[in-house]
Amino acid sequence: MSLLAETHDTVDHLRLADEHAAHNYAPLPVVIADGDGAWVTDVAGRRYLDCLAAYSAVNFGHRNERIMAAARTQLDRVTLVSRAFAHDQFGPFCAELAALVGKDMVLPMNTGAEAVESAIKVARKWGYQVKGVPDGQATIVVAGGNFHGRTTTVISFSDDPEARDGFGPYTPGFRTVPYGDATALAEAIDDTTVAVLLEPVQGEAGVIVPPPGYLQAVRDLCTRHDALFVADEIQSGLARTGRTLACEHFGVVPDVVLLGKALGGGVVPVSAVVADADVLGVLGPGQHGSTFGGNPLACAVGRAVVGLLATGEYQERAHQLGEHLGDGLAGLVGRGVTTVRRLGLWAGVDIDPALGTGRDVCERLLAHGVLAKDTHGATLRLAPPLVVERDELDLAVRALGTALDELTTAR
Ligand SMILES: *Cc1c(COP(=O)(O)O)cnc(C)c1O
Repeated sequence: MSLLAETHDTVDHLRLADEHAAHNYAPLPVVIADGDGAWVTDVAGRRYLDCLAAYSAVNFGHRNERIMAAARTQLDRVTLVSRAFAHDQFGPFCAELAALVGKDMVLPMNTGAEAVESAIKVARKWGYQVKGVPDGQATIVVAGGNFHGRTTTVISFSDDPEARDGFGPYTPGFRTVPYGDATALAEAIDDTTVAVLLEPVQGEAGVIVPPPGYLQAVRDLCTRHDALFVADEIQSGLARTGRTLACEHFGVVPDVVLLGKALGGGVVPVSAVVADADVLGVLGPGQHGSTFGGNPLACAVGRAVVGLLATGEYQERAHQLGEHLGDGLAGLVGRGVTTVRRLGLWAGVDIDPALGTGRDVCERLLAHGVLAKDTHGATLRLAPPLVVERDELDLAVRALGTALDELTTAR
């Protein structure tokens, strides 16, 4: 195929999407045809280093060998039976994931937003049945700048106008306090509070790492007021930060852990609410469910993911590679970068607004063979698959430096 024809292909694909897909995203102009490890190739045959990893859903790399093998085996056995019947991947998946997280029980769902919704339902039911909150009075405290998904209830407690405006009426029962402010949290909690729902590190907000002592204070307040500490680890969990859970960095154990994204191994949506029996035990038959939640393919893939995490190898890689990436990014501070926040192989890089937006930088990075995504205008989020190599991270940092230099010159 000639280069012209291939380029034409890209344009055609983008035009079809523009005409026939809802415009709820503004993707970069690249059309990916295949992926392998930390790399993807577009329809024109150009290769890119993937520094987004599908928002950490591809932590173990594109087409990870062990995950693909588990998926293929399961595809040739049985893929869906519904929860009306048990299947031979279900019990083992729940037991293995519960053990990884250090809890008794798992409620398997599909998407992250569903895990959040499920946790809200569980916390409310727990509040009425166990804590004794008067019916219909339960409150859940959340943090400003949160991102927990896109359903009507979840966007009801978002403070991002784009995510929220025009989608009311909103679900009541939530109180928002500034993230990182333990005093404000203490003031917001009362006898009706059934849960505090937080991202231990806020992902979409730009990899916001909490101030020292904050999560410990959240833990203490929840314990003191008999409220569940629900940690949304959908993006931060499963080795991204250098630990299985980001909460481990801060020495806190939440009551409820929400997992998603990487749990599906980059193959299928798999999410889970993980908690002890005194919490998840409030659900009885018929009170919650999902046709696809806990399906055989999802469980087989999820078991492969848990197996990869059991050795600690990926957590260690994220830690080591993260230090290396951090060193590289530190060299860009003052050269178009104002601030870098990082935990493990997960970085939020604030771009000097005088140079351009995060999107401007992403477009330049694309031209230099690196895929990345901006968040909230001025921040670049870097989260390459954990299979990435050091020299590939160097390449990404060099490309970022070049992109920033180009924007400086163009000014
Ligand atoms: C992505 C994300 C979700 C929502 O997950 P979906 O699978 O997109 O529904 C929820 N919480 C956090 C912290 C996330 O990053």
